[in-house]
Formats: sequence, structure tokens, C-alpha cells
Amino acid sequence: MRALIYDGQLRLDESLPVPQPQSDQTLLKIRRAGICNTDLELIAGMYGFSGILGHEFVAEVTQGPADLLGKRVVGEINVACTRCDFCEKGIPSQCRHRTTVGIIQHPGAFADYLALAARNLYIVPDEVSDDKAVFVEPLAAALQIIEAVHISPRHRVVVIGLGKLGMLAAQVLKLTGADVLAVVRRQKQAVLLESWGIQPVAVSDLEAQSAQIVVDCTGEASGFADALQLVEPRGTIVLKSTYHGLPQANLTAAVVNEIRVVGSRCGPFDAALRLLKAELVDVESLIEARYPFANALDAVQHASQSSALKVLLDF
Ligand SMILES: [Zn+2]
Ligand SMILES: [Zn+2]
Repeated sequence: MRALIYDGQLRLDESLPVPQPQSDQTLLKIRRAGICNTDLELIAGMYGFSGILGHEFVAEVTQGPADLLGKRVVGEINVACTRCDFCEKGIPSQCRHRTTVGIIQHPGAFADYLALAARNLYIVPDEVSDDKAVFVEPLAAALQIIEAVHISPRHRVVVIGLGKLGMLAAQVLKLTGADVLAVVRRQKQAVLLESWGIQPVAVSDLEAQSAQIVVDCTGEASGFADALQLVEPRGTIVLKSTYHGLPQANLTAAVVNEIRVVGSRCGPFDAALRLLKAELVDVESLIEARYPFANALDAVQHASQSSALKVLLDF
């Protein structure tokens, strides 16, 4: 089979054996996949990753239990041990022994086939197309914001960093009824946000300490600095993107203003599927380009452009 591999360099290998699923695993034939910023960070050498990339995908089950066979599925990316204290608490995404599809010690989905634990799969309803299903993983991550932080319809929420994840976060936050503003620099994003009824703004348009909640999707020190400036005393900053290196920040401001800082990562797949089925979130407008998997290297190149939204791989 073919697979996009990073092992210090990025290459498309066309002669890998199809994986043999273990007893708790299914064999998935990948239908479509999406390139995420995390993939680009792994290719840049973050986390010392080596192996098959990819964690945003929709696939068909070709080997596995009868109730899943032939079904279109998406897969929770954290493969938990089921036995540690976090698994027993019902928080498998923080399993102490987890592997993560295409990120930590688990083969990824940029391949013709992937073997994945059956318990990680969610059947995709017929109403949700392959294009939409590819967004389940990042949409679930966006939903984790409202899992982690109470957001009232009386709150003003500012989203900073309107890339692929930020554009999903803004839409999810809008569903709470809160006053959602999005700090954008690019016209493409501003036009889309306005079409969703979300006001695009510049940081300079906003008064300091005027938001109860700021969601930073930039993954940059400057984003966290902007968040510290915009959040009101006793407000909350949600960190939604991993950072390059060790960003510097004025943490004294966080202490003096008693700011709560909440890290947030993976979220509920079932809820993301419900939102897509009910068409409460527009993901198709975020698709910037699609490439046949044979041209995966070109696709990664395209996704690496700083203005790029979602680039899909078609199998
Ligand atoms: Zn991702
Ligand atoms: Zn565990």
C-alpha cells in the first residue's frame, strides 16, 4: 500500500505491506483525509515523530466486527489502554499509556489502510458526506472549548488566530449565543466569518480587558499576549493550539488580574457528528484544495502556505 511517511524527511512510500489488525482492531480503508497544522509541525520535527502521518480521516471498515463491517467511520485519535486511572475516570484522551493516531507511536491515516481499535470508531450517518466527515476530529477539538469552560450567552468571547481550527472554534462558540468576535488579518477569513454572522475585528478595534473569555488558536506568543490584553480581570483564556518552543509571556498580568488559563485539546466525536448532521456548522467553505493521494507531497506543500485553510487528500 501507499503511505505518506516522515522519518526525518517526507516521502510517499508505495510498497508498504497492508497492516494486519490485532484482535481488538479493525482494518480501515481510508477514503479521504485532511492535513492539519499538527501534521506540518510533525514534519518540522516537533515531538520527534517518525512514521505514517495523518489523523483527520474518514474510512470504510474492511475487516472487523459484523456491526462495523462495510460502514463508513471516523476514528477517535487517542488509543487508550482502558485500564489506567484516567481511563477508569472516563477520560481516555488523557490515558497515561495512550498512543495517538499519526502523532504518538501509532501509524497514521495518510495511507491506503490503517489498523485501529474498534472501540475508537464512530459510524458516519449517511447525511454527512466524506468531505464533512474529515472535519469531525478538528470540530470535536473545537467543541472541547465549551466542554472545558462555561460560556454564558451574556459573555463576550474573542477568538484569536482564525486558521483551520479557529474557524471551527468561532462557529461552535457562536452556537452558545455569546457575543463572538474574531480577530482576523485575512480577507478570505473575514468574508466567511461575516457570512456566518460572526464579526471580524482587529485587536486595535477592541478595548483592553473587554472580553470574559479569549480563545487563542494562534499557537504563538503574540496570540497569548493579545489574549492577556483583551481578557477582563477574572476572565478565562483558552489555549487551543500547541506552541512552537517556549513562548515568553507577561505572566504577572495573569496573576494580578487573576486570569484563568485553560489548556484544551481533543473533544467529543459524537457531538461533532451531530453538529455536522444537523448542518449547524459550515465546514465545506473551509476546503481550500483537494489532491489525489498520489500527489500528497504537493498537497503538504499547499497546506504549508500560511494562508491555507483545509487541504484534503482523496484516496
Ligand atoms: Zn489535527
Ligand atoms: Zn489508560
